[in-house]
Amino acid sequence: MESTINPTVLVVNCGSSSLKFAIVDPATGEQYLTGLAEALGLPEAQISWRFGDSDKQKANLPSGANHTVALAYLEEQILEGKPELMKSFIAVGHRVVAGGELFSQPTLITDEVVKGIEQCIPLAPLHNPAHLLGIAAARRLFSELPHVAIFDTAFHQTMPAKAYIYPLPYELYKEHAVRRYGAHGTSHYYVTTEAAKMLGKPVEETNIITAHLGNGGSVSAIKNGQCVDTSMGLTPLEGIVMGTRSGDIDPSIVFFLADTLGYNIEQVRDTLNKKSGLLGISGKTSDFRGILEGVDAGDEQCKLAFDIYCYRLAKYIASYYVAVGKVDALVFTGGIGENSMPMRAAVLKMLEGFGYVESPEANAAARFGNSGLITTAESAKAFVIPTNEELVIAQGAAKFAK
Ligand code: AMP
Repeated sequence: MESTINPTVLVVNCGSSSLKFAIVDPATGEQYLTGLAEALGLPEAQISWRFGDSDKQKANLPSGANHTVALAYLEEQILEGKPELMKSFIAVGHRVVAGGELFSQPTLITDEVVKGIEQCIPLAPLHNPAHLLGIAAARRLFSELPHVAIFDTAFHQTMPAKAYIYPLPYELYKEHAVRRYGAHGTSHYYVTTEAAKMLGKPVEETNIITAHLGNGGSVSAIKNGQCVDTSMGLTPLEGIVMGTRSGDIDPSIVFFLADTLGYNIEQVRDTLNKKSGLLGISGKTSDFRGILEGVDAGDEQCKLAFDIYCYRLAKYIASYYVAVGKVDALVFTGGIGENSMPMRAAVLKMLEGFGYVESPEANAAARFGNSGLITTAESAKAFVIPTNEELVIAQGAAKFAK
C-alpha cells in the first residue's frame, strides 16, 4: 500500500469530547485511514482506527487525554512505521459547523479566521468551541501544513433573502444576524454533484431536492446547482423530525412550557433538543433502527414516530417544489436516508401527486453503501446516494496545498 500513496489530506472533525479523523486521497476519495478518539477529557478516553478495509484497532488513551493528546497519538503511534503516509499529507481539513455570514468557501485558517470561528460560537455553542480545540492542537502538531476550515453552513450561503430572513423584527437580523444558516452543507453539496453525474447534466443546470437524514436531518432545495432553501435554521433545531430534536413546532409551545408548566429556559432547551423527535414520540429510542424494530413488533408509539417522521419529511419535500420549480430528482442520504427502505417507500407514496412511483426492488437494493435510482422508469426520479463529507473536506483543503 505504502508505495502507491497519492497526496492526501488529514480530515479532522472535532466534537467536545471526540475527534474523528481520516486520511483521504482528494483525487480518488480513497480513505487510507479512518478513526475516532472518544471520551476525551474523561478517565476512559480511547481511540480506535482502521487502515483501509483492515480490521479495527483500539487503544486506551491516558486518562483525561484531550484533543492534542489524541492527535499526538495519531502522529506518534498509529502512523509510526508508515512514513510514506505521513509524507503524503498536503493539507489538514477541519470540519466547522457554523461559519455564519463570514464564510462561504473553504478558508485557509489564520489567526484572523480563528477569531471569525470564535465569533460564530453563539450559532453553534457546542460545536465551534470543540472545533477550535482541534484546530489549535492540529496547527501545533502539523505546523508545516496548510490548515483549511470547511464550513457546514457554506453551501447554504447562496439562499435568497426571502428564504433566510425570518418574519421577525428586521433589526434582529440587521443587528444580531438572526437568520437561517442551515447545516449539513457539505453533504448536500456532495450529493448534488453526484446526482448531477447520475442525471448526466452539468451541476449548474441541475435542480434537485436533497434529504440528509441522520441523527440530525435537513432537507435542501437546490436550483441550478445552488442551495435556494434549507430546513435547518439559525440552529439545527428547526426543520424535520430528528432523533432527539423536535424540528418545527408552534413557538408558543415554549410559552406554554414556561407559563403553564413552570419550565425554566434550560428545561425548555433540553426538552426540544434532547427529549423530543423520535425519542420523545416513541418514549424508547432516538435510533431509527430501533423505531423500525418497534414498528415490526407492533409498538404503537414507534409506529406513530415513524408516521410523523415520514409525513413531516414528505411535507418539506413537497414545499420545496415552490423553491425549485421543475425538479430533476429527489435524493436521500445520511444513515436513515441511505438505509431505510420503509421510510423511503412511505415518503414516495405520500409524494405520489408529484409523480413518484417507488420501485420496490430498486428501493430494496439501495442500502449499505449502494447508490441508485429507487423509482420506476416512468416515475419522477428519486435516488439514494451515500454521502461523503470527508471527500468534500479533503477536496476543499487540497485547493490550498503548497
Ligand atoms: P447518521 O447520523 O448519518 O450516522 O445516521 C444515524 C441514523 O441512521 C440512526 O438513526 C440509525 O438508526 C440510522 N440507520 C443506520 N443504519 C440503518 C438501517 N440499516 N436502517 C435504518 N436506519 C438506519
